[in-house]
Amino acid sequence: MMFRKFRILAVVILLIVSNSHASDNAGHVVKQTIRLDDISLHYEFADAQSVAKQPAFTKTIHAGIQHYRKLFGGYPRDLQGKTYTEITVRIRQGKHSSGEADPQLLLLTWSDSKLFGLHSWQTLLLHEIFHLWSAESFRYHDGREHWFNEGFSEFYTFKAATELGFISAHDALTIASMPLGFYSSSERLGRLSMREAASNNKAKFDNYFLVYHGGWVAAMVLDHDIRSRTANQHSLDDVMRMLYQHYPRHKTLYRSEDLVVVLKTTSGLDYKEFFKRYIDGIERIPVAEHFDLGKALWDFEFNPAKRHQHEYLYRALGITSVNNNFMGK
Ligand SMILES: [Zn+2]
Repeated sequence: MMFRKFRILAVVILLIVSNSHASDNAGHVVKQTIRLDDISLHYEFADAQSVAKQPAFTKTIHAGIQHYRKLFGGYPRDLQGKTYTEITVRIRQGKHSSGEADPQLLLLTWSDSKLFGLHSWQTLLLHEIFHLWSAESFRYHDGREHWFNEGFSEFYTFKAATELGFISAHDALTIASMPLGFYSSSERLGRLSMREAASNNKAKFDNYFLVYHGGWVAAMVLDHDIRSRTANQHSLDDVMRMLYQHYPRHKTLYRSEDLVVVLKTTSGLDYKEFFKRYIDGIERIPVAEHFDLGKALWDFEFNPAKRHQHEYLYRALGITSVNNNFMGK
């Protein structure tokens, strides 16, 4: 919030950049305002390395916002429930990558190495941009829903990155095995439910992979299941759109029980038992009963004629028929 008072009122046209310098406690902050379509990005760069990468940040943020706007059916909303298109973006280079989001605010610390060998700064940004909707426009009632809040953000981050071409189709399949691996080997799986695992902020990080990657696996399985059982008429996208449209955070906060209702309303399918066993309960999600990632990768690489067998998994991971000939035609 304290940065707001430094915000400059700059009138710039597309891709014409205005710079100004202001001091803060940490040193010099370089400010730039970029207007794109109807979005304005108000950058605050902490170092010259970050300033130099501005076009790359802008490309990722612009692509991410437009992608999610289409998914949710509108721009993100502020605490009063009003949509906005002005976003402050604070960026610095650091040893490790990390990010954060608040209404109208994105924070990124970037480095050239990947977080967990998984997240580039691009996917971290896509994760934080997703939170402008899920977490900030509609919001969990309490920390127990972080399996959804964080896990589904991860799922949609990598799906978006694949659809936008930041990640190739076969990398998307390989990456999908990572949440499965970290979830399956998390020490407290079978003793602690995903909901209990994030009941407070300390627990959320103590049980990081059970929460983030367990939720990510739940998203993959649910999206795949809805697509399979409705012949691709419905998907998790419908759930996200309904949450955005019907659960504005200033009016109501969602709980897992609401997610079961929204799943039923949007797809016609009943996931009460799924939640009881794998989300509220301590049972392990039986992924192999739903899909075979290795086979889906093998056929993607070597058996174009068999790709159609994995159509719903490919779609769930953002591998589209437009840029990948997965129907074998
Ligand atoms: Zn997050």
